Amino acid sequence: MTTSEQLFEKAKTLIPGGVNSPVRAFRAVGGSPLFIKSGKGPYVYDEDGRQYIELINSWGPMILGHAFEPVEKAVRDAIQYSFSFGAPTRKEVEMAELIVSMVPSIEKVRMVNSGTEATMAAIRVARGFTGRDKIIKFEGCYHGHGDSFLIAAGSGAVTMGVPDSPGVTKATAADTLTAPYNNLAAVEVLLDNNQNQVAALILEPVVGNMGCVIPEPGFLQGVRDLCNKHGVVLIFDEVMTGFRLAKGGAQERFGITPDLTTLGKIIGGGMPVGAYGGRAEIMNVVSPAGPVYQAGTLSGNPIAMSAGLAMLHHLNDHPDVYTRLDEIGEKLATGFRAGLQKAGLNYTINQIGSMFTLFMTERSVSDFADAKSCDLPLFGRYFHAMLKRGVYLAPSQFESLFVSVALTNDLIDEVIQANEEALLEVMS
Ligand code: PLP
Repeated sequence: MTTSEQLFEKAKTLIPGGVNSPVRAFRAVGGSPLFIKSGKGPYVYDEDGRQYIELINSWGPMILGHAFEPVEKAVRDAIQYSFSFGAPTRKEVEMAELIVSMVPSIEKVRMVNSGTEATMAAIRVARGFTGRDKIIKFEGCYHGHGDSFLIAAGSGAVTMGVPDSPGVTKATAADTLTAPYNNLAAVEVLLDNNQNQVAALILEPVVGNMGCVIPEPGFLQGVRDLCNKHGVVLIFDEVMTGFRLAKGGAQERFGITPDLTTLGKIIGGGMPVGAYGGRAEIMNVVSPAGPVYQAGTLSGNPIAMSAGLAMLHHLNDHPDVYTRLDEIGEKLATGFRAGLQKAGLNYTINQIGSMFTLFMTERSVSDFADAKSCDLPLFGRYFHAMLKRGVYLAPSQFESLFVSVALTNDLIDEVIQANEEALLEVMS
């Protein structure tokens, strides 16, 4: 037994499923998860001392590679002044100023401790602002584990939400309407059938959570127009795409302005941080400026703010990071496509900037139904074939990979070579 396996056996007796977040348990790909001990630059190291090239990067935050020196130094510098005050600090003001300057649509912002908190608060604010109850989300988009978001889509565009998890009440689910991604007609039907009842439409402007799915031309503008027409608050969930697809996120990259934006992951530099923000008129309903309650003992925590500020300052001051991330993403996608061709496979790769997914399906993937057509057992075998070659992918087909700028051209070539060998191995 490896040390990781031993730890997992023990963890299962103490922690539900042995992990603190389900996808980590490798259920979707089989086998036992790696227990990670450390990371540096493009690599992580497991408890058995094995080195892996990182293509998850903590599900996004480590966009500059692991233990990036300026972030590490900022944390070291901050801890000497104590770890938490529960009182306002200068760093929170600096953080708000930086976010407002970087993200095009944000005029005012509130810090929270995770992406889930950000999305939960954003819909409460939208409901408080509009006085309406319902929300629209897209099938296959993940917005954290808040009750309102754990809703499976039905078979059509106009189905009422049903709970996706025990513990979510039918009443909560009934307020969440779902539509297939990239389907404007379905959104229009929902809005027409629920006149003056929909508070918010929330979406991932590029989806990471059904694998990488890219909005079709006109889709984001279309939802913007429909939201304007129906007085619906448009929320871009940029927990994954924020500070990744551009320094101002997907909204900058696509030139579409949402009313509210949710942020997480990169904004904390690896610490537990989230944020939501948007038009001042809407954000002014948040307590204590307005009546919509939202709070947090550790919100704006000084250590977390220090890590996040160092991260965001670096990204703000080095636009070349984004040129390089695009280049890395394109190189990998091109190399992976060549690997597929050599293996005689016609599978789909979706890539935009530093987000990409190899879908084990010949269908082009533009919504969750397409993504679900993938050969999942094949993906499981491919995942382990990559792991054996020292490449750490997300352990599920329904995830995007996230590269960091720490990936050198030599490492990109190594990953491309591993992909080619892994595909040939699993197809033989
Ligand atoms: N929104 C999106 C788009 C996400 O990808 C995630 C997490 O992966 C969340 C929200 C929830 O964030 P957290 O896991 O920090 O609660």
